[in-house]
Amino acid sequence: MGATPIPDFDAIIIGAGLSGMYQLYRLREQGLRVRVFEAGTNVGGTWYWNRYPGARFDSESYSYGYSFSKELLQEWDWSEHFAGQPETLRYCNFVADKFDLRRDIQFESRVKAAVYDDNSPSWSVTLEDGSSFTCRFLITAIGPLSTPTLPRVEGLDAFKGASFHTARWPKEPVDFTGKRVAVIGTGATGIQTIQTIAGQVGHLTVFQRTANWAAPLHNGKIDAETQAKIKASYPEIFARCRETFACFIHTTDPRGAFEVSDEEREANYERLYGERGFGIWIGNFNDILIDKKANATISDFVARKIRQRVKNRAVAEKLIPGNHGFGTRRLPLETFYYEVYNQDNVELVDIKETPIERLTAKGIKTSDKEYEFDIIIYATGFDAITGSFDKIDFRGTGGVRLKDKWKTGPETYLGIMVHEFPNMLMLMGPHTALGNIPRSIEYSVDWVTGLISFATEKKLTRLEATPDGVKSWTDHVRTLGEGMLSNEVDSWMTGINSNVEGKQTRIVARYSGSAPAYRARCDEVAAKGYVELRLG
Ligand code: NAP
Repeated sequence: MGATPIPDFDAIIIGAGLSGMYQLYRLREQGLRVRVFEAGTNVGGTWYWNRYPGARFDSESYSYGYSFSKELLQEWDWSEHFAGQPETLRYCNFVADKFDLRRDIQFESRVKAAVYDDNSPSWSVTLEDGSSFTCRFLITAIGPLSTPTLPRVEGLDAFKGASFHTARWPKEPVDFTGKRVAVIGTGATGIQTIQTIAGQVGHLTVFQRTANWAAPLHNGKIDAETQAKIKASYPEIFARCRETFACFIHTTDPRGAFEVSDEEREANYERLYGERGFGIWIGNFNDILIDKKANATISDFVARKIRQRVKNRAVAEKLIPGNHGFGTRRLPLETFYYEVYNQDNVELVDIKETPIERLTAKGIKTSDKEYEFDIIIYATGFDAITGSFDKIDFRGTGGVRLKDKWKTGPETYLGIMVHEFPNMLMLMGPHTALGNIPRSIEYSVDWVTGLISFATEKKLTRLEATPDGVKSWTDHVRTLGEGMLSNEVDSWMTGINSNVEGKQTRIVARYSGSAPAYRARCDEVAAKGYVELRLG
């Protein structure tokens, strides 16, 4: 027998977004030979692709940036409490420059397939251009919301005007002046787009299928004094994010909605509605996301706000969700979104009442009439969480396909590993704690780095999750999801996407326990020397 060939790289990372960039930094520190393959022409992932008008953070900027480098924290100034996409993309580039990351990133390189060979043992990664590379460790940093989906509607190509999905927005600015514009979709992305372009377009038609609850963002500039305070208090900010349920600076109120008087509850909602960020969602009473009656109190409060803000009563009623409670889908934050519907040049079309039948050369034909447009914007979301995995042909031991293995929903160990896929490590894959995502990313990258360092030290060539380990984690994730109102509602968080074949049944795709509990479990595995894994 000949000697085992040395793989091209110690590790290949798929994706140069926030996860991939930080993972590269960490593995390089260990002296490993690493290559990142990135489909885009530059770093940034989500912030590279989502250039749509009005794209910005919903997490406080200073709680979002990387925390691993004190120097970086001091060098970077966030200009707003919730930074816009151009600034965040600049930040990603600043990080890439500062740590000289690009020399190990191959851009315009979309991964098509990754096949494990037990004999070497190594992964072989093939790009769309046909080239392929081998590695010991394969790390997926492909993001939970990175495979955009278009409506499954007749005549999608028939439209002769310009059309864009928000996550494939052109790099050049789009001129909306005087244009007749359609937006399909009213999730977090649609809401940001609509409120931003409504003042620029000639006429805007919003096609809404399901109304979503939204609450004010209350963004603002960060002045010099606040900037200095933020920089001085980064250790406290990140310590707080480590303690909270979902790694945001907001944390659940220890009280239940009915433990206070009606007046106190109303005053609390009023206060939260007037405060910045996600407080009204995840800094609210501890039972609003698990108890329908408690949830009804906040839903009723926000519905009254919508009625106050939207002048036309019939339009207001259309904007109030009727099929799910406040916060049971990921809450979009808005800036004068509701007021947009008071403008004469904005029209709301409820496509549950008058469904879209097809696209035409001139625009959109509903069951009611044909609307003519110059531009159609698809804010129709993503094949979330497992979608980006489905697009790559991952094959584990004996050629088993990941897509087949996850046919009825993902099965993972800690959200990081999969049985029969040795040495494949997932960042922000299914069953991990997402929340304020860079905080979760930093933890997962550090955990993965710790595991790789352990393997290198012990000269291990093969790390694999056991069937028992996968079953117990998957069962645990499913049990945690029970009783959460969000798991009883159709959304990307429950794996639903009407535009994708086979994604019409709800699954438990996310870990819905607390981030501290997630970290405690992962820390325990590491502290015990990863004995729960099959090590070879
Ligand atoms: P989304 O929440 O999945 O919303 C997609 C929208 O498109 C929904 O209103 C959906 O209606 C509609 N839609 C989909 N297919 C349709 C069809 N065939 N016909 C008509 N309408 C259709 O996607 P998103 O708004 O892109 O947001 C996804 C996630 O990205 C967010 O929840 C958030 O986590 C993240 N995000 C974050 C930020 C931020 O941090 N600032 C900003 C934007 C997005 P239905 O509800 O009826 O399916």
